[in-house]
Amino acid sequence: MKQELIDHMGLGTKSVHAGQEPDPSTGAVMTPVYQTSTYAQAAPGDHKGHEYGRVTNPTRTALEGNLAALESAQHGICFSSGVAATDAIVKCLRPGDHIVASNDLYGGTYRLIRQVFGPFGISSDFVDMTDLDVVRNAIKPETKLLWIETPTNPLVRVVDISALSKLAHEYDVVAVVDNTFASPILQRPLEQGADLVVHSTTKYLGGHSDVIGGAICTNDDEWNEKLRFLIKSAGAVPGPMDCFLTLRGTKTLQVRMERHCSNAQAIAEFLSAHEKVGKVYYPGLPDFEGYELASRQMDGFGGMVSFLLKDDSMEAATQVLSSTQVFTLAESLGGVESLMNHPATMTHASIPANERHAAGLHDSLIRLSVGIEDVRDLIADLDRTLAEL
Ligand SMILES: *Cc1c(COP(=O)(O)O)cnc(C)c1O
Repeated sequence: MKQELIDHMGLGTKSVHAGQEPDPSTGAVMTPVYQTSTYAQAAPGDHKGHEYGRVTNPTRTALEGNLAALESAQHGICFSSGVAATDAIVKCLRPGDHIVASNDLYGGTYRLIRQVFGPFGISSDFVDMTDLDVVRNAIKPETKLLWIETPTNPLVRVVDISALSKLAHEYDVVAVVDNTFASPILQRPLEQGADLVVHSTTKYLGGHSDVIGGAICTNDDEWNEKLRFLIKSAGAVPGPMDCFLTLRGTKTLQVRMERHCSNAQAIAEFLSAHEKVGKVYYPGLPDFEGYELASRQMDGFGGMVSFLLKDDSMEAATQVLSSTQVFTLAESLGGVESLMNHPATMTHASIPANERHAAGLHDSLIRLSVGIEDVRDLIADLDRTLAEL
């Protein structure tokens, strides 16, 4: 299919076809794994668009076209991991520059900005992005980036992408959205005014918990050039097999997201009605704080659900986390299988207990990445586990 046609088609069609055409040399319908580091030239400089594998690889080019189409972007640039993508953006800053980031975000982003870039003279503040005035007050003359993540991790709070992008542009600040939790099926930040979208393709885009990867999408030609220069010069590139696996993942992204959303909604409703459960955090619950904004900003409420136990203790949480059969206790999210995580001792353990509690991360908080299994089996697993408490 002609790529110009795809621009006008739906996300399900884009997932399957964008960036990909039958292989010109063999007719292979699926993009081959071009396992090569270099490409023959007929005469110096006379080549077919590829010179060296760090700079470009046809399997990676197909994935980049696919992701760009899904995010309504002109450009997609793939990296060896989500944090490598984040690293490339922050590397474009200079000593003395300042970042305003969300205070409820992926722990690795915090670690990278603070511990890796802090010593190079890049300062940062992590603030509550659900409050526009707080964000406005955090912006300084030297602020260059606004780092947005929504829904947030692990409290799945919803942040207003279009209001924050507008605010950033008032101060000549670049608005970046980490769209890993929503995926482009549920939310396309560039359409809402953001300048750059970052993904850990390890999560929903890959979707099968079998590959690590990252990507940046943008409509800004200058950023595209800066990032491609960094790919060539710093080299955090994904291998062709990883690109192939991710490209296979994105083909089913839309149908997977539909199932993640419907399963998560049913589980959030089940937990809300359960006597042993305290608060449930899910944007699809009408009494949840972010419900209205999520209804406007997103095309679905996502697959991430967090909840507190009525018995808000480490012991109760540990018992639940050690007893499920279908949910696996593990870090990460976004795969076909259901996972369970304990922020206090796993993903957010590096935050001191008093700060963690102040941020609403209670000891009994449990985060679910709801998979695509039969929802009645997931609910039965939780029901049996909670009954044993
Ligand atoms: C996992 C994750 C990352 C980091 O991605 P890796 O692929 O693990 O390097 C960044 N942001 C979010 C929201 C994530 O969940």
